[in-house]
Amino acid sequence: MTLNQTIQDVFNEPGCGKNQAKSEKERKKGCTKQLQPGGAAGGCAFDGAKIALQPITDVAHLVHGPIACEGNSWDNRGAKSSGSTLYRTGFTTDMTENDIVFGGEKHLFKAIREIVEKYAPPAVFVYQTCVPAMIGDDIDAVCKAAAAKFGTPCIPIQSPGFVGPKNLGNKLAGEAMLKHVIGTQEPEYTTPYDINIIGEYNLAGELWQVKPLLDELGIRILSCISGDARYKEVAWSHRARAAMMVCSKAMINVARKMEERYEIPFFEGSFYGIGDMSDSLREIARLLIERGADPELMDRTEAVIAREEARAWAAIEPYRRRLAGKKVLLVTGGVKSWSVVAALQEAGMEIVGTSIKKSTKEDKEKIKKLMGDDAHMFDDLTPREMYRKLKTAEADIMLSGGRSQFIALKATMPWMDINQERHAAFAGYHGMVEMVKEIDRTLVNPVWQEVRRPAPWAAAGAASWQDRALAETLAQTGPGSASGREAA
Ligand code: SF4
Repeated sequence: MTLNQTIQDVFNEPGCGKNQAKSEKERKKGCTKQLQPGGAAGGCAFDGAKIALQPITDVAHLVHGPIACEGNSWDNRGAKSSGSTLYRTGFTTDMTENDIVFGGEKHLFKAIREIVEKYAPPAVFVYQTCVPAMIGDDIDAVCKAAAAKFGTPCIPIQSPGFVGPKNLGNKLAGEAMLKHVIGTQEPEYTTPYDINIIGEYNLAGELWQVKPLLDELGIRILSCISGDARYKEVAWSHRARAAMMVCSKAMINVARKMEERYEIPFFEGSFYGIGDMSDSLREIARLLIERGADPELMDRTEAVIAREEARAWAAIEPYRRRLAGKKVLLVTGGVKSWSVVAALQEAGMEIVGTSIKKSTKEDKEKIKKLMGDDAHMFDDLTPREMYRKLKTAEADIMLSGGRSQFIALKATMPWMDINQERHAAFAGYHGMVEMVKEIDRTLVNPVWQEVRRPAPWAAAGAASWQDRALAETLAQTGPGSASGREAA
């Protein structure tokens, strides 16, 4: 299948909520908007593919392209490993003008040889980027030749950045796994309690907040795609009895095609928030029982849920009083847009706005259900509007990714990292308690009082630059207007 055909196939994904609402003609056009200058700041397809697969820890991830592609994406996610650290070594062919004139295939072949000789990894993943794709380097052919020569699987990941955004790259990475890896090895043994977790990246070690509970229930993670995974685990993931898909849009194609090919039923769930965590455990147990596990698994699951919920509520209780009524502006996407809403509400906070730019139709429905009809969902929350909401105290704290942090810092308002780059783990019951503690710590941090004090050299009574910025914003948008496009 050519890259174009693969992209078309991904766009046709019937499991995607957005696709279900489209006509056949619209589906064919795909969901990628033409990227605007600066649009790649949200991540290109290559970045998306790398994010999705880099957490496979014992693989050598080799980026075929100019060094900036790898430099851009190297180690910018805190996916943790319980073993090999090879995934954190940046490998790139560092293409030069010479390669662009004469072609980079030989250079790539040599790079694979060097990696195999020095590191002997179980596999080499080769990522295609814009430049070699444009000059026509055939990484499929190079990988095939190198695998035959060195006896090590070499997996081509067709993900040149120009084909679309990060989300498309996640799916292209999934396609590469389906085509070249999944189903190529067999596990030593299987049990009726084997599951796959798809779209979980073990950021800040979040998988380890969940795994002990699954271990206690006798449920084995046969494969996590891709957090803290080993190559062989992904290769034998087709033998799982059931699967959970964690991030709603990233790898739906993998979950659905594995159901189609290997009859592994899946559900979409979240490990964020007490209620969602309990629902996910129940759903895992239910699917496993359907596939032949002993029905007493459900009783044990309920017992664990009751115990863990009680513990988590007891730990949150002192914070609920402190956080009650605090207003949160949530700027994140995908599964987090609803699962974090639920988590924050559990802690007694009020959500004054949430972005739904990256959310599916189902994600939006879930938010509406949680927040009621007056849900403030924003398709496109502009930085100016975020600033206004914070500066006029419509929100007490903003939870977002690192790129928006400077808006909160300029408004001298509390901000907490909720996205992939964060260093704190918020999954499972324990993670929820941690998230509440972290929000509390952020809100009461004395630094906010300090930064709000006028500078010693500022003239008494003079308007600060923040006051002037707010006045300008209000003059342009009006006091309560939403310059961010609020979704209907
Ligand atoms: S793959 Fe293309 S868009 Fe992505 S970082 Fe490299 S050059 Fe930029």
